[in-house]
Amino acid sequence: MAALTDRFESHDYDVVVLGAGGAGLRAAIAASAAGCSVALICKSLLGKAHTVMAEGGIAASLGNVDPADNWQVHFGDTMRGGQMINDWRMAEIFAKEVPERVYELERWGALFDRTPQGTISQRPFGAHTYRRLCHVGDRTGLELIRTLQDRGVHSGIDVFMEYTTTRLLTDEGRIAGVFGYKREDGRLFLFRAKSVVLATGGFGKVYKVTSNSWESTGDGVAMAYEAGAALRDMEMVQFHPTGMVWPPGVRGILVTEAVRGEGGLLYNAKNERFMLEYDPKKKELSSRDVVARSIYKEVQAGRGSEHGGAYLDVTHRGADYIKRKLPSMYEQFLHLADVDITKERMEVAPTIHYAMGGIDVEAETGATSLLGLYAAGECAAGLHGANRLGGNSLGDLLVFGKRAGEAAAEYARAQSAPPATDDGQIEEEMVLLVRPFESAGQENPYLYHAELQEIMGTHAAIARNQELLDEGLAKFQRLQERAADLHVEGSRMFNPGWHTARDDLFMLTIGEAILRTAAVRTESRGAHWRTDYPDKDPAQERVNYLARKVDGGMVIEARPIPPMPPELAELTKETV
Ligand SMILES: Cc1cc2nc3c(=O)[nH]c(=O)nc-3n(C[C@H](O)[C@H](O)[C@H](O)COP(=O)(O)OP(=O)(O)OC[C@H]3O[C@@H](n4cnc5c(N)ncnc54)[C@H](O)[C@@H]3O)c2cc1C
Repeated sequence: MAALTDRFESHDYDVVVLGAGGAGLRAAIAASAAGCSVALICKSLLGKAHTVMAEGGIAASLGNVDPADNWQVHFGDTMRGGQMINDWRMAEIFAKEVPERVYELERWGALFDRTPQGTISQRPFGAHTYRRLCHVGDRTGLELIRTLQDRGVHSGIDVFMEYTTTRLLTDEGRIAGVFGYKREDGRLFLFRAKSVVLATGGFGKVYKVTSNSWESTGDGVAMAYEAGAALRDMEMVQFHPTGMVWPPGVRGILVTEAVRGEGGLLYNAKNERFMLEYDPKKKELSSRDVVARSIYKEVQAGRGSEHGGAYLDVTHRGADYIKRKLPSMYEQFLHLADVDITKERMEVAPTIHYAMGGIDVEAETGATSLLGLYAAGECAAGLHGANRLGGNSLGDLLVFGKRAGEAAAEYARAQSAPPATDDGQIEEEMVLLVRPFESAGQENPYLYHAELQEIMGTHAAIARNQELLDEGLAKFQRLQERAADLHVEGSRMFNPGWHTARDDLFMLTIGEAILRTAAVRTESRGAHWRTDYPDKDPAQERVNYLARKVDGGMVIEARPIPPMPPELAELTKETV
């Protein structure tokens, strides 16, 4: 009889990178440069990863526009923005290395906007002390992806598109490979690998109103948890203050912070610039958590815009300037909302945008708690603490993508033989994958997803309290019990209902981790706003919360943050 693994497509690589966004591409380039065979796997097409949507820019202290800027100030801004629960070592590495990663991108062909002197132009962004965001109009992600992709495809990396990974395979506590299905024909695949880098992005799709693309269902984070890795600070989900509000079909689509960076002002229904009240110093360029909460409070106080948000006005900058610096925003509002932003105000409201929480990683290498498994980019946690500053994600992808790729390559090269894959694990995943075709239940995967989003949007929203979280968790547990009844019709040939049924399981893990961790952090800090604990608790400034799978259930533990060296602590004090 043929071996189980002969029944599907199988491959052998030194390093497998999951995800072809900025983090995955940079990791794959690094691993390939270190002499390893590399497979880059993604569930959409190359060039379509969520990174392509990034708009405002990459934060790096080049000092081209404000010469006083340096890594020390960037470090301080990042730590204060993250409300001090960031991994300070990650923040230090990040602030020091991101300028070189930007110059590297430029050497590889990225065409940034320029200053009159010909250097890379930098724009202001929320809670950055200096003008720091290197940008390409408001299409920076497109340029970043294009450049890395050009570099990557010439580095001998093998790319596998529309391959959805659903399970990490392990061998006695170390990574052994990945398993999943091809979206196009539903056939199963296996990659044996000495090391794996997860770069699968965030999980905005656990909420209904989100700026995130369809890909952001948290697959990598959930797979890492299932394989035994710890998740960190999952309660920290960023609500970006400015998503589109109207018409309903576009609700949640991002209105880049670059609009405020370029001088956009926020008004309530009474035409008051309310940010002057909430943060008189930074005003519209306060950190995202503060601006999002301020809009929420204005709406709650009955001073919201027509459709429950605020007005954002950039008309005073003039049509030529707006079309040059914010071309995507101009077209987005014109085509989707019939609003000409050179003449009219935009209507905006908070939208789920970014996952500060994710897989717990070691700062220098991106190593997870599972041997041979690394993570980088939005799926990894640590750098941003309780609130990410705008522009700090794209730099994160480059700095830690490179480091994770190098570390995964080094680990792979030290292995004499590839680890063995376990038929039992593969069979278990095969059963889970085909279950929706065989189930007698009648749970529709799309309606199930909508219900999950409804629970998260009601019970783990921008304002939370114990009662809401406990109720949400109880509803979530009932939802989990119904998962075996998810049912789909048809075949495995490009069947989006079937894909959603598996994504739903990932999102169950993510949602549970958010609810459970949010219930444990009994304070308000950054993006996590507890109306029953409205203040910061100094004791909880010194802890991160980890979610782990123990005896089949989710356990949340507090882990003390190691003390910061005094010279770094000094940099976190407000300077300007
Ligand atoms: C509209 C918008 C604008 C933004 N603008 C900025 C900005 O200006 N500056 C900034 O710093 N940040 C910005 N961000 C945030 C930033 O874009 C993201 O955090 C970042 O791009 C995430 O990159 P990543 O490489 O971690 O993952 P992604 O780019 O999300 O890529 C994830 C990859 O993983 C693959 N994948 C996922 N699951 C699986 C699976 N199961 N199997 C196989 N492959 C899988 C996907 O196919 C994809 O290739 C913005 C975000 C949004 C939504």
